[in-house]
Amino acid sequence: MTEKIDLLVHCGFLYPMDQPGRIVTSAEVAIRDGIVVHAGTAMPAGHWQAARTIGGPGVAVLPGFVNCHSHAASAIFRSQSDDGEGGAALYKVAFRGEKDVPASDWRDLAWLGAADMIKAGFTTINDIWYEPEALGEACLQLGLGAEIAFKLFDLKLEELWRGDYTRHADIGEGRLRRGVEFAETWHGKGDGLITTRIGPHATDTCSEALHREAFAEAKRLGIGTHTHVAQSPGEVAAITSWHGLGPAEYLAHIDCLDQDSVLAHLTFASPRDLDAVRDTGARYAHCPTIYPRRGMFPDVPAIDERGIAWGIATDWMMNDPFEAMRFALNALRLTAGRHDAFTSEQALWRATAGAANVLGKAGSKGTLAPGKQADLIVLDLDRPHLQPFYGDFSSVVWYARAADVVTSVVRGRVIMEHRKLCAGDEAAIVAQVKQHLPRWGQLMTSLGGVSNIDPCCG
Ligand SMILES: [Zn+2]
Repeated sequence: MTEKIDLLVHCGFLYPMDQPGRIVTSAEVAIRDGIVVHAGTAMPAGHWQAARTIGGPGVAVLPGFVNCHSHAASAIFRSQSDDGEGGAALYKVAFRGEKDVPASDWRDLAWLGAADMIKAGFTTINDIWYEPEALGEACLQLGLGAEIAFKLFDLKLEELWRGDYTRHADIGEGRLRRGVEFAETWHGKGDGLITTRIGPHATDTCSEALHREAFAEAKRLGIGTHTHVAQSPGEVAAITSWHGLGPAEYLAHIDCLDQDSVLAHLTFASPRDLDAVRDTGARYAHCPTIYPRRGMFPDVPAIDERGIAWGIATDWMMNDPFEAMRFALNALRLTAGRHDAFTSEQALWRATAGAANVLGKAGSKGTLAPGKQADLIVLDLDRPHLQPFYGDFSSVVWYARAADVVTSVVRGRVIMEHRKLCAGDEAAIVAQVKQHLPRWGQLMTSLGGVSNIDPCCG
């Protein structure tokens, strides 16, 4: 019997991530109406009548990576907080500079970020930033799945580096209104490609009233929240001095945490904070690329002991899931002093199925199995750095690079082929960003950041 399908993807190696240890050789993924109908051993010739067939024996197929905490448009701050005291640059450069970046720049950066994510192998992101409509438009056109939140706070971020926590209710109200309007307008756009969250930026940058209102709005809309928690010692010190609680404990105490809350970082979380995360069912976005830059690493064993759901994310600057997996592997093995503290398979699971679970989307994303959304990436194995390719999880996780992702499929739609975006002009997106460089360089140096760009001619 012949079955009609839209897309058939052949591969030498398939990593469905749906069952522990499962790797299928000489495999294929069959897709109809954006849904996987088969992901496993190749069926006999003639079984499928496919409108389109791609792939071949020289490729591997994985579920698309899920970035459960990102700031696609934050690339403007690349290089600013990588050396020196990273946390200080966050406050002195990024938080002070964000208000001076016009909406049109954030728009150009959103397109850049969406293109960057696709080219790195992400098929879904969970983003919180400025100008969420611009990111929504970029993702809709380019085909990238996205959960998007508008960044809420009710103080002057640019004053935070001085420890000035003066609240401005008008800022909070205006931002909450825009965040809610965005969620109401955009949730479910593109037949569900775009979904939304409410995004109280951090435990200390929102007042208790704003946290409560934001959480109530999220519940009213039936969507989740997305917040930075225990990201910096300054945040922990502020929350503890005001409330006598750690940041996650505090959010639980004011009834603003539940299973639909995504918490980024938990770098400086206390055991009691982690208990609060466990008790509320909140989920954790772990960003291993960024922590070693700061000389710190969250207590993942304590997070695992409590059974907290977590996935790998990139936060900002380097949107590379392969690098993120290797940072997590190296850091967790080094901090534990054990080679087996974290395995390649676990890293790949945390960057795909685990990250989808953080978003509450384990039922539709993160694995390749019948009934799941057809979000997948194709890796070209015919590369010198992948030879000889023995096909284990370690072969992919320790050796593959983002640039090996040649094809990307989201909900059955091919959105990148031969490393070319199918619905966007990558060169134009990059050129658009580059024209801002002299001005951005001046902005960074005026804030004490880094830039070696000639201010007159870029
Ligand atoms: Zn972040």
